[in-house]
Amino acid sequence: MTPPEHHSCEGCDAEAPRLLSVADAKRRIVELARPVAGREHLAVRDALGRVLAGDVRAGIDVPPFDNSAMDGFALRSDDLSQSGETELKLVGAAFAGAPYAGRLQRGQAVRIMTGAPIPGGADTVVMQEQAQAQAQAGKDTVRIGPGHRSGQNIRRAGEDVAAGQVVLRAGERITPAWLGLLASLGVAEVTTSRRVRVAFFSTGDELRGVGEHLGPGQIYDSNRYTLHGMLRRLGVDLMDMGVVRDRLRDVRQAFREAADTADAVITSGGVSVGEADYVKQVLEELGEVDFWKIAMKPGKPLAVGTVGDACFFGLPGNPVSVMVTFHQFVRPALRRLMGAAPEPELVIQVPAACPLSKAAGRLEYQRGVLYRDEQGRLRVTTTGLQGSHVLTSMGKANCFIVLPEASEGAEEGELVDVQPFAGLV
Ligand code: AMP
Ligand code: MG
Repeated sequence: MTPPEHHSCEGCDAEAPRLLSVADAKRRIVELARPVAGREHLAVRDALGRVLAGDVRAGIDVPPFDNSAMDGFALRSDDLSQSGETELKLVGAAFAGAPYAGRLQRGQAVRIMTGAPIPGGADTVVMQEQAQAQAQAGKDTVRIGPGHRSGQNIRRAGEDVAAGQVVLRAGERITPAWLGLLASLGVAEVTTSRRVRVAFFSTGDELRGVGEHLGPGQIYDSNRYTLHGMLRRLGVDLMDMGVVRDRLRDVRQAFREAADTADAVITSGGVSVGEADYVKQVLEELGEVDFWKIAMKPGKPLAVGTVGDACFFGLPGNPVSVMVTFHQFVRPALRRLMGAAPEPELVIQVPAACPLSKAAGRLEYQRGVLYRDEQGRLRVTTTGLQGSHVLTSMGKANCFIVLPEASEGAEEGELVDVQPFAGLV
C-alpha cells in the first residue's frame, strides 16, 4: 500500500497518511472471500437472483427460424423493378404459429405477419405501409414501389443466439432478461451455487428495537433494517440475530453462534477506537481479524477477517457508514462468496450543479442526486447534510459523488465522478 501524500494544509486530515486507500481495501476484501461449495439444480423461475455454477450452452438457434420483423408482404427481391412499380400475385398468408406451406414462385407474394416464418422462395419483406394490396375480380394482387433492399425486415435464425454457443457463463447472476432467454432456449433447469447464508447483528448498549420504549440516551436500531434491505436485494439467506449488548459473554456467544451457522457475519458498531472493546477482544480471541482504517468518509474503521469458517465484516455504527461500506466493500465480497463474477463498477463524469465541500486527505462518498436540467443536460447535486448519521441523505440519493483523496471539493460546473446506484436504496 502506498500512503497518500501528506498535505500540510489547514483542514487536512492529519491521520490520512496512515490510512489504507479505498482501492487497496477493495482489493484485499474481495480476496478474502472464497466461493462457497455446493450446487443446486433449480427450475428456471426459481433461479432468479441466483448465480450459475456452470456454463449454459444453447441447444437451439434463437430465433429458431427466419421470420418476419414486420406485418407486410414476403416476396422474391428478384421480382421487384429497380425503377418502377411491381405488381405481384398474392397467393396466401403466413401467421406467427401458422406458416405458409407452399413455396413462392416468380411473381408471387404472401401476406405475412410479424413472427411468421419466411415462406420458402421468399427473401424479403416489404412492410404493409409501403405496399398497396388490391382485390379485383377474384384476383388478389399487391403493388410495390422501388427502393427495397433484398433481405430487409427478416430476423435471421440464430441471430440472437446460435445453437451450440455458450450463452451464459458460470458466475453469471440470473436477471429477468436471462430468465427469458433461458426460457426461449427451452431450458427447464439450471445449476446454481447454493444460497449464501449471512448472519448479522447490531452491537451497542444504546440500541433498542422498534416497538420498544426509548429511555434517556437510547436510540432505535436502524442498521439491521438497512442491512436487511441490502442483503435481501443481494439474494442471500438472512439470519437476523438482533441487538447484542456490549457484554463480553453476550458478544462471545453471538459470534460463536453466527460463525457456526453462516458463511458470512456482518456486525455494525463498536469498531471505532477505544469503544466497545469487547467486540475487538472477542474477534481477536475467536477469529483472525484485521482492524482497518480506510482513507474514506464516511466509514473509516472496518474490521475484516474470518471467524471460524465464516468471513467477517465489522462495519462502523453510523447508519450512513454502514450503507456506504456495505455497498463499496461487503457487497463485492459477498458476490464472490456467491460465486458471482465481478461486477464492473460504473463511474461516470458529470458536472456538479452546486459547489461541493471537502477537505483533502480521505476519499469521500457524498450522497448525490443525478438529474437532467431544463436543457436536458446531466447534472449532479448534493442531497444536503452529509453527516454519517444523516440517513435521509441515503434515502434521497440515487448516486454517490466520489471525491478522491486529494480533492479539496469541487466548484459548480466542475466535472466530478459519480457512481449511480439503482438497487441499493
Ligand atoms: P459506534 O461505532 O458503536 O461507536 O457507533 C457510532 C454511532 O453510530 C453512534 O452514534 C451509535 O449510537 C450509532 N449506532 C451504532 N449502531 C447503530 C444502529 N444499529 N442503529 C443506529 N445507530 C447506530
Ligand atoms: Mg457502539
